Amino acid sequence: MSEQVERIKTLIIGSGPAGYTAAIYASRADLKPVLYTGMEPGGQLTTTTEVDNFPGYPEGIDGPAMMMQLQQQAERFGTQVRIGMVTAVELSDEVGGIHKITVDDSIQLEAETVIISTGASAKYLNIPSEQRLRGGGVSACAVCDGFFYKGQDVAIVGAGDTAAEEASYLANICTKVTMLVRKDYMRASKAMQHRVNSIDNIEIRYNTEVDEVLGDQVVEGVRVVNNETGEKEEIPVTGLFIAIGHKPNTDVFKGQLDMDETGYIITQPKSTKTNKPGVFASGDAQDKIYRQAVTAAGTGCMAALDAERYLASVESKEMLAS
Ligand SMILES: Cc1cc2nc3c(=O)[nH]c(=O)nc-3n(C[C@H](O)[C@H](O)[C@H](O)COP(=O)(O)OP(=O)(O)OC[C@H]3O[C@@H](n4cnc5c(N)ncnc54)[C@H](O)[C@@H]3O)c2cc1C
Repeated sequence: MSEQVERIKTLIIGSGPAGYTAAIYASRADLKPVLYTGMEPGGQLTTTTEVDNFPGYPEGIDGPAMMMQLQQQAERFGTQVRIGMVTAVELSDEVGGIHKITVDDSIQLEAETVIISTGASAKYLNIPSEQRLRGGGVSACAVCDGFFYKGQDVAIVGAGDTAAEEASYLANICTKVTMLVRKDYMRASKAMQHRVNSIDNIEIRYNTEVDEVLGDQVVEGVRVVNNETGEKEEIPVTGLFIAIGHKPNTDVFKGQLDMDETGYIITQPKSTKTNKPGVFASGDAQDKIYRQAVTAAGTGCMAALDAERYLASVESKEMLAS
C-alpha cells in the first residue's frame, strides 16, 4: 500500500450527471474538486444511444457524447478527473474533520468534503437475449425510453410500485402494455394495483416469466412461459421494459452513512447533507423516486453548494477560534 497521502478540498465520487454537475459548480467556486470516475466513466447514460429529455438539446443527444461534454465542462473550470474506484472510506464524525478515502485499494486520500454521486444500477433478468438487446428495445427506464415506442405494443416485467407506475406511464404512450408478473399476485400497493387494473390497454399476466427476448438487432417479441403450466407463448412487442428494481452503488459507505433498507443514502430534507458533517450525497445514490439525469444534475448542483457553505462555515469557526 502506498504511503503517500494527498489532501483534497472536495472529493467527488462518480462521473454521472450528478458528479459532473457537482464538479462544474465546485470548480467554479474554487473548491478544487478531484473527481474519481469509477468503473463506468460517464455513468448510466453511456449505455444509451439517445437522450431526448435533457434540457438544452433540441435534437436529442447520444448518451456518451452528452457525458463527454459534461466532463469537458467540468474540466474547463479546473476539475481534475481521474480514473479510479473508491474502495474504502473512513468518514469523520467531527465538523471540520478529515475524511479518509482509499482508491483502488492503494491510493490514500484525505478530503475536507466528499460528494457522493455513485448512482444506481438497474437490475436485469440476466438472460442472454435480454442482454444482447439492451438498447435495441430492452430498456430499464420507461420514462427515458417510452417515447420511442409511441403507438406500439410493449411489455413490462415487474410487480412492484415502480413497475405499476411505469406500466401506467407507458399506457399513455403505447397502444398496448402487457405486464408480466412472476407470481400470482402483485407486490405493488393496493392503490397502484387498482390504477393498472383500471387502465384498458394494460393486460396483466400472472405466473408469467420471460423465456427469451426475440429479435436479431431489435426486439420483435417476447417468448413467455407460464410457470405453473409450462406453456410457452410468443407476444409480439417492439419494446421490453424491465422494472424489477435498482441497486444503489453505496456498499462502500455501509455502516457509516444512514441508508434505507435497500441501500439508498438518506439525506436531510431539501438538502444533500448526510449524517456525517462534510459528506453530501447526490443523484441516483440517494434518489429512488425520480432517477433522471436532470434530477441527478440538480442534486449534484445542490451538493456542491452545500459543500461550499460547509467549508465556509468551518473556515469562519476556525478564524474565530484563532
Ligand atoms: C439505459 C438507460 C437509459 C436512460 N435514459 C435516460 C434518459 O434518456 N434521460 C434521463 O434523464 N435519464 C435516463 N436514464 C437515467 C439516468 O441515466 C440516471 O438517472 C442518471 O445517470 C443518474 O446519474 P448519477 O450521476 O446519479 O449516477 P450514474 O449515472 O449512475 O453514475 C454513477 C457513477 O458513479 C461511479 N461510481 C460508482 N461507484 C463508484 C465508486 N466506488 N468509486 C468511484 N466511482 C463510482 C460510476 O462509475 C458512475 O460513473 C437512463 C438510464 C438507463 C440505465
